Amino acid sequence: MATPLVELPSPVVQSASCHPATAATMYAIVDCNSFYCSCERLFRPDLWNRPVVVLSNNDGCIISRTDEAKRLGVEMAGPYFQAKPLIEKYGVTTFSSNYNLYGDMSRRVMDTLRHLVGAQRTEVYSVDEAFLDVSGLGTAGYRHLALHIRQTVERWTGISVSVGIAPTKVLSKMANHTAQKNKQGTQCVYVLDTPQAIQQALANTRVDELWGIGRRYAEKLNSWGIYDALQLSRMPESWARKHLGGIAGVRLMKELNGEPAIGLGDELVTKKMIATTRMFGKPVTTLQQVKEAVATYISRAAEKLRRQKSVASVITVFMVYKTAQLPGAHFRHGTSVSASVILPNATANTHELIKPALQIAEQLYQAGYIYKKAGVLLSGIIPADAPQGNLFVPKAPDANGRLMEMMDNINFSMRNDVLRFAAGGTVRNWKMRQEFRSPRYTARWKELPEVH
Ligand SMILES: [Mg+2]
Repeated sequence: MATPLVELPSPVVQSASCHPATAATMYAIVDCNSFYCSCERLFRPDLWNRPVVVLSNNDGCIISRTDEAKRLGVEMAGPYFQAKPLIEKYGVTTFSSNYNLYGDMSRRVMDTLRHLVGAQRTEVYSVDEAFLDVSGLGTAGYRHLALHIRQTVERWTGISVSVGIAPTKVLSKMANHTAQKNKQGTQCVYVLDTPQAIQQALANTRVDELWGIGRRYAEKLNSWGIYDALQLSRMPESWARKHLGGIAGVRLMKELNGEPAIGLGDELVTKKMIATTRMFGKPVTTLQQVKEAVATYISRAAEKLRRQKSVASVITVFMVYKTAQLPGAHFRHGTSVSASVILPNATANTHELIKPALQIAEQLYQAGYIYKKAGVLLSGIIPADAPQGNLFVPKAPDANGRLMEMMDNINFSMRNDVLRFAAGGTVRNWKMRQEFRSPRYTARWKELPEVH
């Protein structure tokens, strides 16, 4: 990592250890703004304040967009071909994913956070988000701390972040959401440290915007007349236990009411099933396209699996193809086909999951059909530290467990793409389409930007 050119701000954690008595629990979430786009803009000053989007594998979907692109109406997660007219009309600069660059920048951001508050207080949550335990560090006020974190990360890495600080993880996510909703007014930082501020933020947050509440739960809550987080926070715990997924619901209620129930490194929910599915933006007809989709979904699902420190033993792949509309029928339902495989050993390794998933995809696929949707479901989920051995199959050595962890957390920069796994296995004819990839500025010496 390059030596920072600015003077080194002292780690905030040192001053805190002098005042342990002031330590009410406080969490910060630090979230990089439009992360992939921000990385792309770092070395392209001509793109500052300009609309930019980054595309997923094979240039399929928009996975990151700047505020300028958002204002033009470019949809997040929308298929590229649908946004193309808008992109061309307004001259939106488009990039293919450049994971080497993003991984390297991610590491720099996380290193900066570790420097500021200490590694023990830092939980890397995703490539562009980290939770920090900032308990007792707000001696000069938590807003001051949040601004200090934000400014230091931006000065050292060039990446702008939003910071939310509150007594619990769920509330810190909510604070961050508030900061992002009004970047100008909040300077991208928001602190919930008084009961009044928390109440107000709860009232202004819809249940579907809450961390841990999926779309299905949000719909259920709405059907019971619960629309905002304040209403939800006032429900009794016994109700949450019954209707909000047992202990996870109880923890959520505690968190909403300012009582920390999810520590650093803990997840709100340990899912028993992990599904990743998506409608195809355009009709898909070839086996290769179907496989690309399945490989991508598996890699997402595997990341979720590893994040909750679990392994899965059952993979289900499904796909939906179009069927002819019957005369008089109002809806055109597709036909769904699916198949599952039980693995000899439960795993969370992407490549151990991808191979069987692609084999299922090959079996299910039939030429001549038009596919509109595909998905994967991981089940048979158990904690990673207690995988059930299979007496008849020798257990594979777990060298990969650490590898995966590295890929998720630290060495994201070395990950070219999940398809690299597949390339060594079942399919060799895949080539990621990366028409608009930028140089790997910080990850390859040859691609360092030059100043003339
Ligand atoms: Mg982000």
